Amino acid sequence: MTAAVTFDNVTRHFGSVRAVDGVDLKIAEGSFFAMLGPSGSGKTTCLRLISGFEQPTGGAIRIFGEDVSAIPPNRRNVNTVFQDYALFPHLNVRDNVAYGLMVKGMAKAARYAKAEEMLNLVKLDAYGDRKPGQLSGGQRQRVALARALVNEPRVLLLDEPLGALDLKLREAMQDELKALQQRLGITFVFVTHDQHEALSMADSLAIFNEGRIAQIGTPEDVYARPANRFVADFVGSSNVLPPEVTRALGGPAAWSSLRPEALQVAPAGGTALAGPVTGLRYLGAGTRITIAGPGADISVIVPAGTALPQMGETIGLTFAPGALHVMEHA
Ligand code: ADP
Ligand code: MG
Repeated sequence: MTAAVTFDNVTRHFGSVRAVDGVDLKIAEGSFFAMLGPSGSGKTTCLRLISGFEQPTGGAIRIFGEDVSAIPPNRRNVNTVFQDYALFPHLNVRDNVAYGLMVKGMAKAARYAKAEEMLNLVKLDAYGDRKPGQLSGGQRQRVALARALVNEPRVLLLDEPLGALDLKLREAMQDELKALQQRLGITFVFVTHDQHEALSMADSLAIFNEGRIAQIGTPEDVYARPANRFVADFVGSSNVLPPEVTRALGGPAAWSSLRPEALQVAPAGGTALAGPVTGLRYLGAGTRITIAGPGADISVIVPAGTALPQMGETIGLTFAPGALHVMEHA
């Protein structure tokens, strides 16, 4: 199958800044693909390279098999939903959505019919006459989505589209976006710095660190089998254990990770992992207990209602065989 988007050793430098630094990618057609990474790791630059608003310093980008280096943004069959929505404040919702079709020269009746269809899709059909300023943040987000989808892109790029919404609305929109993507079958490339968002929405994801891909895989791959320390720490804040600790726990002399939820509190003595409690953090659904273990700080998450140790009290931690994940790279 032809990939929707392919990066072949793509770089984009801004002076001495390597914003994108030798990225290889294959995004399957019809998939929900996430780019996850901290601020400044090169995610937006990758989207801009796909949309054509940015040109690579080196390497090649293909969209549905076609090298796009000479193809301008308006001929790439790709649309972007921006974090700040970038709506026209003086146009009403209907005209905002129909704008792209007007630019393409579509007659008024036809473009309004199409705009209405899109507003229906995002459940805003009653809002066509309003100005963006008269909408909530969530509604503006939907207008931005409708405005991008009206062009019938084969690839939709979304740059932190839910970043401005409060948690409850963000979770509702995550479900809606995912359902919409599945219904339309369009390839979504979704940029976020929020690991929960990426893990819950994506079919596969790339973890970015300083312009490079630290790991690429399914949510389960990157969460359960992080390839390196950066991924283990960034995705789900795992306990990252140096080689000597891994070995003391029965593994090889290599870096490893242990998920906080895979650990259980046990009496000190009889376990290789023990130490004084240095942190107790209430998380709502549970509490994170941190101990100063031999060679590393180790955190465990216990469910709400569990009897908690005192600060400074020495406790042990145990884990099921198989929970210790040995990483391929440091
Ligand atoms: P992200 O979206 O992951 O936060 P960006 O792709 O926006 O990261 O930026 C990656 C790096 O490239 C950052 O260090 C940023 O400052 C730099 N950068 C991005 N665009 C430009 C530009 N037009 N000129 C100079 N530096 C840029
Ligand atoms: Mg960005």
